[in-house]
Amino acid sequence: MAKKPTDETKGIQAKDRYFLHPWEDVTSIGAEARTVIAKGDGIHITDSDGNRLIDGPGGMWCVNVGHGREEIVEAVAAQMRDLTYFSPWSATAPPAAILAERLAGLAPGDLNNVFFTTGGSTAVDSALRFAFFYNNCLGRPDKKHIISRVGAYHGSTHLAASCSGKMLEKANMDMDEDRVHLIPNPNPALRPASMSLEDICDQKVADLENKILELGPDKVAAFIAEPVLASGGVIIPPEGYYRRCHELCRKHDVLFIADEVVTAFGRLGHYFASRDVFGVEPDMLTTAKGLTSGYVPMGALFISDRLMADIKAAGNEPKGFFSGFTYSGHPVAAAAALANLDIFERDALLEHVRNVAPHFEKRLQELADLPMVRDIRVKGLMAGVECCLNPEEPDDERDMNFLLEVDEICQDNGLLLRPVYSSAVLSPPLTITTTQIDALVGILKQGLETAWERRI
Ligand code: PLP
Repeated sequence: MAKKPTDETKGIQAKDRYFLHPWEDVTSIGAEARTVIAKGDGIHITDSDGNRLIDGPGGMWCVNVGHGREEIVEAVAAQMRDLTYFSPWSATAPPAAILAERLAGLAPGDLNNVFFTTGGSTAVDSALRFAFFYNNCLGRPDKKHIISRVGAYHGSTHLAASCSGKMLEKANMDMDEDRVHLIPNPNPALRPASMSLEDICDQKVADLENKILELGPDKVAAFIAEPVLASGGVIIPPEGYYRRCHELCRKHDVLFIADEVVTAFGRLGHYFASRDVFGVEPDMLTTAKGLTSGYVPMGALFISDRLMADIKAAGNEPKGFFSGFTYSGHPVAAAAALANLDIFERDALLEHVRNVAPHFEKRLQELADLPMVRDIRVKGLMAGVECCLNPEEPDDERDMNFLLEVDEICQDNGLLLRPVYSSAVLSPPLTITTTQIDALVGILKQGLETAWERRI
């Protein structure tokens, strides 16, 4: 059982009243006494009352090398001593240049141009802006529409949020609906029972082609897609879908933007899932999170040589991509990213993920027989356990409340979860061992069973 909140914890919770948290209900700021997380080590976090928990969501899909890595702390401190900041407009700093070269070497195909950003949303926004810029440079001012998907999440800047397909969250936010078009959720579990996986794949690919044809290929700038839709509940599109969408984009001269903010840097056992898991070399690719394992904020957009060559070929006058951030290529963030990549190499972390992922999947699939479990989706070290209390009458709010209760029980027993609508999503630090996976699944099972007993 969890230890009771101390006065110190209550003091922090009172101060937290002034912290408007992401996604917080503004009519009741501070009403919720949040867990106060004070420390992290490996796959664990410890709250301010001394309760040690498995970090099920890995921070927010980001603490890939695990908490408390001294090497990153040292690299950050050393860089701060040497140089904390200098303008990326007028000069460059060693870690940023070294990191750019190293990343270009790891990236798929000809994605050799690394545009550093402050996180995932700004990487996505920059990719979309580059798509507009590209078409302007090529003399195609009408080719500006973007296609995205229901269930996708691409970030919280205006354009990135407009491309997100989590409808409830967009309701009051005045999105860019003129240029952004959503096609249906590619979740194969939503198909009718009579439909095969091959047929649903054909249908989902056709959704993209139909939308391109409806808008007109000369009007569509880009298709943006996460290989696995993370915040949509870990939605894994049918086999072959991602590759076929890429082929369609090539056919219709539409840029393919891979949003790998979650899947890059090891989540699926490779630095980049697009090429190594799905066989696709995108035109642009966005990353953040695992780039620094969340130690400090940083994102990176990768742009292909082909796009740069097209712009150059289109005209001789100079073409400035007038976009960038004060903290583009921040030396301290770049130093953290380099130390992070060193850990990947030294600890053979990608191989480790490929070794433990089958165990993660097998153990989670054992939950499939529980009465409230509707679907279990696992890819690499990311998973969504979807629950439904009454399949005859699905009710998102009731199922979400059920998962909030599961989360509370799991926290009492040493596991932090992340409920997303009716799914509990998991993306633990990549260092997790098979024994720790067993512990995680055991606590989750107990949480599901206990919450179920309380409900009926
Ligand atoms: N793209 C994807 C696929 C994401 O999951 C996220 C965040 O979860 C983002 C973009 C936005 O990244 P950030 O929160 O770093 O801005």
